[in-house]
Amino acid sequence: MAVAKTAIAPMKAAQISKPGGDFEIVEREIPTPVEGHVRIKVQACGVCHSDVLTKEGWPGIQYPRVPGHEVVGIIDELGAGVSEWKQGQRVGVGWHGGQDGTCLSCRRGDFRNCRNLKIPGISYDGGYQQYMVAPVEALAAIPESLSSIEAAPLLCAGITTFNALRHSGALPADLVAVQGVGGLGHLGIQFASKFGYKVAAIGRGPENAALAKKLGASVYIDSKSTNAAQELQKLGGAQVILATAPSSKAMSELVDGLGPNGKLMVVGASTDPIEVTPIQLIFGSHSIQGWASGTPTDSEDTLRFAELTGVRPMIETCPLEKAAEGYARMMSGKAQFRVVLTM
Ligand SMILES: [Zn+2]
Ligand SMILES: [Zn+2]
Repeated sequence: MAVAKTAIAPMKAAQISKPGGDFEIVEREIPTPVEGHVRIKVQACGVCHSDVLTKEGWPGIQYPRVPGHEVVGIIDELGAGVSEWKQGQRVGVGWHGGQDGTCLSCRRGDFRNCRNLKIPGISYDGGYQQYMVAPVEALAAIPESLSSIEAAPLLCAGITTFNALRHSGALPADLVAVQGVGGLGHLGIQFASKFGYKVAAIGRGPENAALAKKLGASVYIDSKSTNAAQELQKLGGAQVILATAPSSKAMSELVDGLGPNGKLMVVGASTDPIEVTPIQLIFGSHSIQGWASGTPTDSEDTLRFAELTGVRPMIETCPLEKAAEGYARMMSGKAQFRVVLTM
């Protein structure tokens, strides 16, 4: 058996070395956790549409950068001063990758809106690699009953829909519409149903009607063949419309589907403007709100709720070495519904 004479870097990572660059599978030294950080042996990392920021470029990103903010793995080394987490413990890291603890939002305890929020895969290397280092304030404990592959998408797609809905003001039995039956929407429908809402799923075309009902929707509205806002009005108007598909045009068309005091809750990220007239907001006291993810404790709530109610992401797995293919599959919009990299 041949023995390598030169030292081989002992782990694989999928990195982007410049904005717009392709995924490169590289070998790197296993990183060492500094004070207040842990090293995680990554088991699974979800591929999220927001990884496009790392792939295509975003102000402040230092390249090369390893994307990934839906990370689950096992703590295998503790940095100095870490006492509340243990080696061998299974943890997750989501969009909230750490707060500064000093800005005005943090001083108010509103860590979610930290002005200097760190995001894994953007501020530091994320989960598209075999080992990653994360600060303790980014860690969420993973319940026994969820596999690492199942838990990963709950750390961004899951928490985003769960948290947006539970803060939306909708009460049990209210009509809640979920726009988009995709990576976020298929989880949003499940959470909305388990929260006790009457759920109207809105998709383009008839393909996802049966699936939406299986996920818990009591009504399916095909926005291609009908006017979705009018359909919602026939049902009394929506208390909340959770807008998950990143189409500002589709969101704009739904504003007139809101009931009195209804709210369009926006979680699908797009750079195009949502168009709405003041009249559309004034009559019926309608509002539009955005929502971004949540803290690691919100992640733990999401995971616990999923454990209690059976909410699960639908997943396609892909090995780390094929990160480029997994990413392309996610971008194609054809994945059913979340792509998860396995190590
Ligand atoms: Zn994400
Ligand atoms: Zn802060």
